[in-house]
Amino acid sequence: MTDTAPTAAPRAEVFTTYSPATGEPVAEHPVAGAAEVADAVSRGRTVQEGWAALPASRRRDRLLRWKKALATELDTVARTIAEETGKPSGDAALEVVLTLEHLAWAARNADRVLRRRRVGAGLFAAHQRASLVHRPVGVVGVIGPWNYPLYTPMGSIGYALAAGNAVVFKPSELTPGTGVLLAELFDAAVPGHAGLLATVTGPASTGEALARSGVDKLAFTGSPGTARKVMAVCAETLTPFLAECGGKDAVIVTADADLDAAADAIVWGALSNAGQTCAGVERVYAVREIHEALCQRVAERAEKLRPGADADAPYGPMTLAGQVDVVERHVSGALAAGARALVGGAESVRAPFVAPVVLTDVPEDAAAMTEETFGPVVAVNAVADVDEAVERANASRYALGAAVFCRSGRAGAAIAARLRAGAVSVNSVLGFAAVPALPFGGSRDSGFGRIHGAEGLRAFTSVQSVTVQRFTPPLALTSFAVPAATRERAVRLARALHRRR
Ligand code: NAD
Repeated sequence: MTDTAPTAAPRAEVFTTYSPATGEPVAEHPVAGAAEVADAVSRGRTVQEGWAALPASRRRDRLLRWKKALATELDTVARTIAEETGKPSGDAALEVVLTLEHLAWAARNADRVLRRRRVGAGLFAAHQRASLVHRPVGVVGVIGPWNYPLYTPMGSIGYALAAGNAVVFKPSELTPGTGVLLAELFDAAVPGHAGLLATVTGPASTGEALARSGVDKLAFTGSPGTARKVMAVCAETLTPFLAECGGKDAVIVTADADLDAAADAIVWGALSNAGQTCAGVERVYAVREIHEALCQRVAERAEKLRPGADADAPYGPMTLAGQVDVVERHVSGALAAGARALVGGAESVRAPFVAPVVLTDVPEDAAAMTEETFGPVVAVNAVADVDEAVERANASRYALGAAVFCRSGRAGAAIAARLRAGAVSVNSVLGFAAVPALPFGGSRDSGFGRIHGAEGLRAFTSVQSVTVQRFTPPLALTSFAVPAATRERAVRLARALHRRR
C-alpha cells in the first residue's frame, strides 16, 4: 500500500439489538464514547438557558406539542418498544398512554409547582420581603432500564424538561431505539431547541461517561448493584444523584377481602410484562382463614396463561436472557427448601418464554422471598394475622410498592400506613402508577428520591431563597453600628416571646 492510497474513514463502533422473542437482529446503534457524551452535555448546556428563560406558558405549549407527536406516532413508538422488549403490542401501547398522561401533567403543572412563592419573614425580619423559587439545575443526565423503556425514563425526562432543564438520555443497551425515537420526535415537534433532549446510545461505559460528564444531576433507574457503582462515580464530583431501583413488592390479603378481585390483581401484577416490573407483585401474605381459597383462585387464573410472541399473548419473553438463570435459581431454591408449586415449577423456566409459576409455603429466607426475581413467579404464603403480614412485608431490603386487599378502604389505608413502601395501592395493584400527581420512588435497596408529581418536578430544581429589604428596621442587628442597648432590647424581647409557649 502506498502513502497516497485512499484510507477508509474509521467506522464508528456500533452495537446490535436483537428481538428477545426470535433472536433476530433489530437494529444497529452507535456506541457513544466520552467525547460524544461530553458533546451532548455541552450542547445541552448551550440551549438550556434559552429554554429556561422562555415564559412558562411557551415551555408548556412546546411540551404539549411533543406529547401530541407521541400520541400521533403511538403505533410506531409502541412497535419499537415491542420489538426491543418482546412485550405484546397492546402492553407497549399502554406504556405509551401512561407516558402521555405523565407528560401532560408535568407540562401543565410545572409553573404552578415551581413558580416564585412568598413566605412569611418572621418578627425579626419583618422589614424583609422573603420568597423562594425553584430553578432548573441545568443539564440532567438520565440513565434508563429496558423493562419500560419509555414510561420509566420519561418519569425523569419529561419532568426535568418541564422544570426548565436540558436532558441527555442514555437508554438501556437493550432498548436504544425507543430512546432515539423519543428525541427525534422532540426535535420534530419542538423545532429551534436542537440538543435540549439528546439520546446517547451504548452500554455501561456510555452510562459511566454520562456520570462523569459534569451533568448537574443524574437520574438513574436500574438495579441497586448498578446504582451503587454509578453513585460512587457521582460522588467524585458531588453530582446529585437520584436512584429508582428494584422491588420485592408484597400484597397483604385480609380475611374479609374480595378474593376474586385480589386473585385477579395478584396474577396480573405478578405475571404482566413477564414479571419484569420494578413494582410487580412478588410476595403475597394472606391470613390463614382465606389462604387456601386465595391460592386456589390465583392458581386457576395463572395456569390458563401462556406466554408467547403473538400480539394476543398475555405476556412475552424474558427481555434479558441472563435473568432466566436468576428466575430458575429462585424457583429451584424455593422448592428445594420445602416450598410447594401450585402452578408450574422449575421446568416452567425456559428461555425465552417462562411459563407462570405460583409457589406457596416458601421459607422467608429463600432467595425467592428476599431477592428481586423479575420473572413471572409469585409466592403466596399464609400468615396468622395482619400484624404478621405487615411484619413480613416490611422485613425486606427493598421498599418500593405494596398493596392491600381489604373489605373496607379505610381499614386498608390504615394497614398501608404501617407499610414501609414508597407507594401503596388498596384494593388494586400498581394503582399509583397511573396517577401523575403521585410521587413514585422507594427506600433501602429500592433507591431514594422521587419522580412524578410535584416532588418529581422539584427533584430537578434547586431552591433559591431571596430576601428584599423593604425599609431600615428600628432594631437593625446586622451592623457594627448597632448600640449594645438595642441588641440587649432585642434579646429581651425574643426571650419574653419564646418563654410564653
Ligand atoms: P441495570 O442496572 O443493569 O442497567 C440500568 C442502566 O444502567 C442501563 O442503561 C445500563 O446500561 C446502565 N449501566 C450499567 N452499568 C453501568 C455503569 N457502571 N455506569 C453507568 N451506567 C451503567 O438495570 P436493568 O437490567 O436495565 O433494569 C432492571 C432493573 O431496573 C430492575 O432491578 C428493576 O426493578 C429496575 N427498575 C426500577 C424502576 C423504578 O422506577 N424503581 C423502574 C424500572 C426498572
